[in-house]
Amino acid sequence: MPDTVTKRLINTMSDQVVTRFAPSPTGFLHIGGARTALFNWLYARGRGGKFLLRIEDTDRERSTPEATAAILQGMEWLGLDHDGEVISQFEGADRHAEVAHQLLAEGKAYKCFSTQDEISAFREQAREEGKSTLFQSPWRDADPASHPDLPFVVRIKAPKEGSTVIRDQVQGDVTIRNDQLDDMVLLRSDGTPVYMLAVVVDDHDMGVTHVIRGDDHLNNAARQMMIYEAMGWDVPVWAHIPLIHGPDGKKLSKRHGALGAQEYQAMGYPAAGMRNYLARLGWSHGDDEFFTDEQAREWFDLDGIGKSPARFDLKKLENLCGQHIAISNDAALQKEITGYLAAADLPALTETQSGDLVRAMYCLKDRARTFPELLEKAHFVLTSRPIDPDEKAKKALDSVSDGILKELTPQLQNVSWTRSELEEALNSFAEAKGLKFGKLAGPLRAALAGRAVTPSVFDMMLVLGREESLARLSDAAT
Ligand code: GLU
Repeated sequence: MPDTVTKRLINTMSDQVVTRFAPSPTGFLHIGGARTALFNWLYARGRGGKFLLRIEDTDRERSTPEATAAILQGMEWLGLDHDGEVISQFEGADRHAEVAHQLLAEGKAYKCFSTQDEISAFREQAREEGKSTLFQSPWRDADPASHPDLPFVVRIKAPKEGSTVIRDQVQGDVTIRNDQLDDMVLLRSDGTPVYMLAVVVDDHDMGVTHVIRGDDHLNNAARQMMIYEAMGWDVPVWAHIPLIHGPDGKKLSKRHGALGAQEYQAMGYPAAGMRNYLARLGWSHGDDEFFTDEQAREWFDLDGIGKSPARFDLKKLENLCGQHIAISNDAALQKEITGYLAAADLPALTETQSGDLVRAMYCLKDRARTFPELLEKAHFVLTSRPIDPDEKAKKALDSVSDGILKELTPQLQNVSWTRSELEEALNSFAEAKGLKFGKLAGPLRAALAGRAVTPSVFDMMLVLGREESLARLSDAAT
């Protein structure tokens, strides 16, 4: 291969965007986490980059395999596929410690033998003297020859002067005075690495180019920069996104309702609608509210992320979900509904019901914002004779409607079963009886579906076919 081509290939590789989602497995995938994952996924996918998944399981007390499974499931539901293996942070502990030892060997970190009591005493005295309570270890510049044979932690040598600037793509330049940074611990006295070190080493080793995460991590960024700098590693592009608030403007919490992404699956929201909604939660592209995944991938950029917290708005979510259901492929919807029923612990559809649902989908998906709404409209095709009318439908079936159905049903025997013929037949029947079509539609809906909210009478008759439709009409005319 000629040199120039080789070079170009290497450049393309090193220019590749690599993002990651790094959840701590201490609970389900919550809405905020799902949005962080989505932003990272969109950013990478829109640029031919990689989206990696790292489970931050170093806190052994709080991390559980169930939580990891729930996070993976939530991401799968949302269609946020990651590249490569799922990385366990805990498994990288030796590598994290190795970096601390390297810094120690290079004199950029030091062994600190101060005990907890000594640290507390230092702070106490600093408080009394009105000085900064950031611990200043007496071991920072100690001669290793003077080291006692006692337990120690490894601390990084924080810069003493100047300031650290986090060039954040959302928050702008955030400057932190270096005298506000302490000599953070890298290795505990048992030799285990701290979380802050693990994050930096992993991000570096994974080749992460862009760190997009909640702004509750902005303070960590300043401390993490110390490690990047000490190691001489490239600092990733930072984008700290404002947290999500509830409709009342307060930080999103349980009291605002469901917090788990998968709870939304169990409530019957389609994943595409959820993705669209989560993408709009803190990011915008002009006035666009409704968009496809393809558009989101194309449009998503860090510039469009707002600086102020986004508010969660269920109405907006429902509205977008309705629009996504309307444009979805029928078979794909049926598959997603199967997932919804399982997530909601509801009985699964039989094979026949699934097939019938797909056939009827064209007349169901237009005005349903959620799968429960869609299934309510689908009742006519999922149920079988004898039709058991609900309370509302019962009201449409009285002695007057009884007479109507008795007279109409035989007249439909010989009508050819097409939309235009059926329209013609029903309209002329209504006219001959001096009835508005609506008067006729109520009893027909009740007889065909046992429900008051249904697709149009014609759609139901076409989906059910002549025999089944007429049988239901005869059943209703007692
Ligand atoms: N594990 C952290 C969390 O779940 C994220 C850390 C990061 O993105 O750097 O909040």
